Amino acid sequence: MTQKKYVLQESDIPTRWYNIAADLSSPPPPPLHPATHEPIGPEALAPLFPMELIKQEVSQERWIDIPDEVREAYRLWRPTPLIRATGLEKALDTPAHIYYKYEGVSPSGSHKPNTAVAQAYYNKQEGVKRIATETGAGQWGSSLAFACNMFGIEAKVYMVKVSYTQKPYRRSMMQIWGGAVVPSPSPDTNAGRAILAQDPDSTGSLGIAISEAVEDAAMREDTKYSLGSVLNHVLLHQSVIGQEAIQQMEMAGEYPDVVIGCAGGGSNAAGLMFPFLKESIQGHHPKTRFLAVEPASCPSLTKGEYRYDFGDTAGMTPLMKMYTLGHTYMPPGIHAGGLRYHAMAPMLSHLHSEGLIEARAYTQNPCFEAAVQFAATEGIIVAPESSHAIKGAIDEALAAKEAGEKRVIVFNLSGHGLLDLQAYDDYLAGNLIDDAYPAEKVREAMEGLPVIA
Ligand SMILES: *Cc1c(COP(=O)(O)O)cnc(C)c1O
Repeated sequence: MTQKKYVLQESDIPTRWYNIAADLSSPPPPPLHPATHEPIGPEALAPLFPMELIKQEVSQERWIDIPDEVREAYRLWRPTPLIRATGLEKALDTPAHIYYKYEGVSPSGSHKPNTAVAQAYYNKQEGVKRIATETGAGQWGSSLAFACNMFGIEAKVYMVKVSYTQKPYRRSMMQIWGGAVVPSPSPDTNAGRAILAQDPDSTGSLGIAISEAVEDAAMREDTKYSLGSVLNHVLLHQSVIGQEAIQQMEMAGEYPDVVIGCAGGGSNAAGLMFPFLKESIQGHHPKTRFLAVEPASCPSLTKGEYRYDFGDTAGMTPLMKMYTLGHTYMPPGIHAGGLRYHAMAPMLSHLHSEGLIEARAYTQNPCFEAAVQFAATEGIIVAPESSHAIKGAIDEALAAKEAGEKRVIVFNLSGHGLLDLQAYDDYLAGNLIDDAYPAEKVREAMEGLPVIA
């Protein structure tokens, strides 16, 4: 019988994070000061982040030790299983072997605690009492609330309003873990009040919520800011996913031909891909392909431009070079709230621009169709975000069938969808719209980008 699950021991949890910056032939362009457009040094980030995370943000070291307290926290749910999708393979009648790394086994149900516990730990070490953050679908907010609770820190979460209404149970999770949650745009910050004055019915966006959380942290001495994706140190922490998957693929006696992740800000995709990319860059497996899958209504990699832009709507963050749709772009309220970010992690953007990572976009209905097929064949009801990776994996498996080739596919199943059943109801009732790409809205947003000399 084919082995179904590849399970590691707690002693196999990685002891170091992998930093892909050490293995790049050309470094990604530096972040720039929002006003002067000069490259910024680490000190510019000091009001927002603890020093140790800033060091990681700019580090060129290949390996960074994981503190014992963080590994201890990881032991609650790591190592996560790697599962062979035998049921899905059979249903597709494909010669491809499909594996998925299942990050839904964490307390909050996604990959996000991998970085949340690390960030809470470093803040605690540096005496921070309170962390402000934003959340889209609520996965990040709940993960950070969980981690803050673990390390005795207060959490204030600005939650994108469309998700606050659509996904009330994630708010409950944050509150159970002791976090304070408000819908964004909120009246608690200047950024929120300005948006509400223009558009009282604003459904919010990750960009707006980031502006609010950054402002909160910048205004208070006892508070730092925390980001659940996009930044280098977040991608770094997620490298435990790929490092474990490499060990598990060795147990299976196979190596992936294609590695797939859904991409919102880029952290779970990077977490799975970068340790495998290291193997490719070093020439061990040069033919392996890497595929980031995004929603057609927020297609930063496939339709955006590779330019300097702000990370938030209000234009308060440093400028980062990334694939962007424009920082004022407001994506439609699709159910995969975690994929509604206007841009893509600078590191993942850089690797895409160098041709190392491919990208593809899908509309919602085919993704939910893939998710329902997955639930029927593998049992797990996945997050709407993760359904994009599944749709990508299914299409790769069907392409392998077409070519008559046994290809090995590994994708990241970034989270379960047990708190997203409203989305499934809407899909099953035929109420989901496949939004066309809003070219005009993107064009308008792109006009607002700063021009860098
Ligand atoms: C947040 C989230 C995502 C998107 O974020 P990335 O930084 O792109 O990984 C994807 N899947 C799930 C389940 C999430 O919670």
